[in-house]
Amino acid sequence: MIAEILCVGTELLMGQVLNTNAQYIARRLAAQGVSIYHQQVVGDNEQRLEEAYRLALSRADVVITSGGLGPTVDDITKRTAAKVLGKELVLNEEAYRMVCERFQQYHRKMTLNNQSQAMFTADTQILPNPNGTAPGAIVPAGEGKVIIHLPGPPHELEPMFHDQVEPWIQARSGHVLVSRYIRIFGMGESEVDMRLKDMEVRDNPTLSPYCSLGEVILRATARAEDAQTAAAMLEPVISEIRSRLGRVIYDVRTDDGGSLAETAVHTLRDKGWTIATAESLTGGLIASTMVEVPGASNVVKGGWVTYQTVSKTMLLGVPEETIARCNVVSEEVACAMAKSAREQLDVDIAVSATGLAGPDGGTPERPVGTVFLGIATRERVYAVPLHLSGNRARIRTLTVKHALHAVTREIKGEMEG
Ligand code: ATP
Ligand code: MG
Repeated sequence: MIAEILCVGTELLMGQVLNTNAQYIARRLAAQGVSIYHQQVVGDNEQRLEEAYRLALSRADVVITSGGLGPTVDDITKRTAAKVLGKELVLNEEAYRMVCERFQQYHRKMTLNNQSQAMFTADTQILPNPNGTAPGAIVPAGEGKVIIHLPGPPHELEPMFHDQVEPWIQARSGHVLVSRYIRIFGMGESEVDMRLKDMEVRDNPTLSPYCSLGEVILRATARAEDAQTAAAMLEPVISEIRSRLGRVIYDVRTDDGGSLAETAVHTLRDKGWTIATAESLTGGLIASTMVEVPGASNVVKGGWVTYQTVSKTMLLGVPEETIARCNVVSEEVACAMAKSAREQLDVDIAVSATGLAGPDGGTPERPVGTVFLGIATRERVYAVPLHLSGNRARIRTLTVKHALHAVTREIKGEMEG
């Protein structure tokens, strides 16, 4: 099955809105083993949209559109598709009821042009929209091909795709694909690649790595008649990967979510531990990243942003003498920060970070990217030196990731210290 994504909206062309729908759909399709050879973005222009449809239908089996299902004149997605297919739009009773219900629910008055949201070709399969007024649609396009219309707002499109389009695709493809996502931190992509090279060329299950800042994610996908068989095929692959990569694997999941922060928060929760942070170059980002994870309130007790030296002394009691003797970017200061944070909030573990994010301030002895993390538990206090590279944003983000990873590993007893 070949799919093509066709996003409609002048705001996408002009860069006013980031095309997250294309990314979302593409990722989900890839996870289902559907091939995508092209994506298109086209403005709210009937003639160009018509061309885009013809091109897409000439080379794909499934054309998935996003946007332009609303009631306004520039919402031309359905009308233009019907024109290309040589069909009429007629009022669909089922869709009309759905639109009316949604308007009642939102206490909004329906206008005449809202009826257009219920206009579809007669052979259309309607996709209910629990999160908005415009229903989606699966429209037969001849030769076994289809056009699938989805609404533009991501909070409407994503659940509609996940709950309705994905099952439709699975039913049509006659097999199921089951994936596992292996999240890796602390080993570069080329090293991962080298260790798994022979596995990456296999056909079923397939193994494909992709990267995001400092992390490598491996997707292992098995194809089988049913989900149970596919899942069973993945088991030996996962254990093989575990034995080849070891502790750099921090999570293995059935979806493509997850993060170092989530793993850290869950590890803290499972152990029944609380945490505090003492941050310099990250300016609160370590705490903030953990707080993004639901349930963080049970484990994150609080923290300090001690950016200038004076606040490290005033708030965390790091002795001026230590700072003068060792430098503010040093093992000693990182340890003192973490120790003080842990004691003051009486938590089980505290993490600190002090370092040079640049672009200025580097010296030959301490170049930009020199960072020390401090880890303090009830048992011990130690520093983790990091030598990071890249710009300011990258150094700060990597510091956060290393800090979260260090916390997880300390709790799991994997840190040599
Ligand atoms: P509505 O009924 O809200 O008009 P619609 O189906 O007509 O929905 P659009 O009008 O095309 O959709 O888009 C509505 C909003 O959804 C846009 O203003 C934009 O914020 C967001 N949106 C549209 N397309 C995309 C996209 N490809 N990626 C991310 N956001 C998008
Ligand atoms: Mg619209």
